[in-house]
Amino acid sequence: MIKNVIEKIDQIAQEDPNLLAYDYLGKENTYGQLKKRSDEWANKLIQSNIPDGEPIMVWGGQTFEMVACFLGCVKSGHAYIPVANYSNVERLAMIHDVSKSKYLIIIDSTPDIDLPNVTVITPDEVGHDDAPISKDRYVKDDENFYIIFTSGTTGKPKGVQISHANLLSFLNWEISDFKLPTNPIFLAQAPYSFDLSVMSLYPALTTGGKLVVMPHHVTQNFAELFKVLPTLKFNVWVSTPSFAQMCFLDKTFNEQGHPDLTHFLFCGEELPHTEAVMLRKKFPDSHIYNTYGPTETTVAVTGVEITDEVLDKYDRLPIGRVKPDTQITIDTSKGDKEGEGEIIITGPSVSKGYLNNPEKTEKAFFKREGEKYPSYRTGDAGFFDVDMLFYRGRIDFQIKFNGYRIELEEINFYLSKNELVRYGVAAPKYNKDHVVKQIVAEIELKDGVKRKYSEGELTKMIRDQLSKDIMPYMLPQRYVYKNSLPISQNGKVDIKQVIKEVNEK
Ligand code: AMP
Repeated sequence: MIKNVIEKIDQIAQEDPNLLAYDYLGKENTYGQLKKRSDEWANKLIQSNIPDGEPIMVWGGQTFEMVACFLGCVKSGHAYIPVANYSNVERLAMIHDVSKSKYLIIIDSTPDIDLPNVTVITPDEVGHDDAPISKDRYVKDDENFYIIFTSGTTGKPKGVQISHANLLSFLNWEISDFKLPTNPIFLAQAPYSFDLSVMSLYPALTTGGKLVVMPHHVTQNFAELFKVLPTLKFNVWVSTPSFAQMCFLDKTFNEQGHPDLTHFLFCGEELPHTEAVMLRKKFPDSHIYNTYGPTETTVAVTGVEITDEVLDKYDRLPIGRVKPDTQITIDTSKGDKEGEGEIIITGPSVSKGYLNNPEKTEKAFFKREGEKYPSYRTGDAGFFDVDMLFYRGRIDFQIKFNGYRIELEEINFYLSKNELVRYGVAAPKYNKDHVVKQIVAEIELKDGVKRKYSEGELTKMIRDQLSKDIMPYMLPQRYVYKNSLPISQNGKVDIKQVIKEVNEK
């Protein structure tokens, strides 16, 4: 059982400094280099006199330097806030606004923004002082280890605070419960600003494993993806089901093309039955796991191996059994069907709440009387069949689209802010596997606007404005102009009705 993430990684580095830890498209780094560089980062941050406990924003891609910097942050006693370098600068500004962090580390691709009163630190300012860091400084126990920002309903992202204790609870479960190979080689595909990345990152680095990175710019380009994927060697696959589905298009994505690949860990969205069947055909000897959990409860809290028996038994796959240190209850007051209701998670991996956002924290988190750990209301609908948990969609307007978590209300907020728009609603269009295939923006324009522009012009203007406010993956694909949108009894646009109509077509 791992007791301290930082000490464990350093211990491996001391025992076997030449062991490979990281492979970024053929550029390899060892555990020894990881220890040295993270100590250098920690010394730099200590010398920068950053106030105790202040989180640090880290902007960058998926390089070795990024990971060394994360470890440097936590060694020097600071949580890191990973921000992907393909984010728009408005998102960075919002994260700064919410976190109040006065320090920004830029690892690569400098963002075109000047944040007032923020000190920028870059890798070339980090010297070669790798003097050992006192363990007293390390982030520990309930202190924040990382803060991941997710989509928020009011246009502002929410910063989920994950402590060292939260991370340990998740980590020790993943390492022990998934029959992972010794010295596992993990595919590291998810950008570090998503908690799915934690499913590869720390289980690899605390077990003497290796991370094989498939960077964002590769996954965004089919030609690149299909050039790179067949060349990578790993034995543990971690991704959303959508990403694996994309890889089905590569003819070499099978047991012959990837003979080392023995484990698939899925998380983040519904694993369609059809996809699991396809995977069993392509990789008949591998272990496929479906896992479930929100960022707020640290990556995943349930898991199940999807065997042929499970495939035969269920048309809609289970999301698994609860990890031993955690408790899941179903709040049936929120469900339509018997036994079904909102999934509530209680346990040591549940976050203390959203950074600097007591209002949203209080809405989603609570403490049961006499209970040591916090509870989190997931907004997910589910039910138990004995000890097996099943997911049945959302009770609010959060969706997963291509693996990305999106609050539809965040899109609506910006759509409706547009000066051409009276009401705007982003509606998910589902396929028969309950997977979102498209986001449709249903729009009621302000008076007189329709006469001035063609629909093509309108869509271009609205889309251009939206792309400044929200992440690219949140942009609707279709824009439909309506004379009026349905209004509910409280006088607001009836979002549920819009979603219903979009899915009836
Ligand atoms: P995130 O915080 O990005 O990990 O998103 C968490 C949400 O993704 C959950 O609250 C669920 O709605 C959804 N989710 C995660 N894992 C699964 C799964 N295995 N099956 C269905 N939905 C999932």
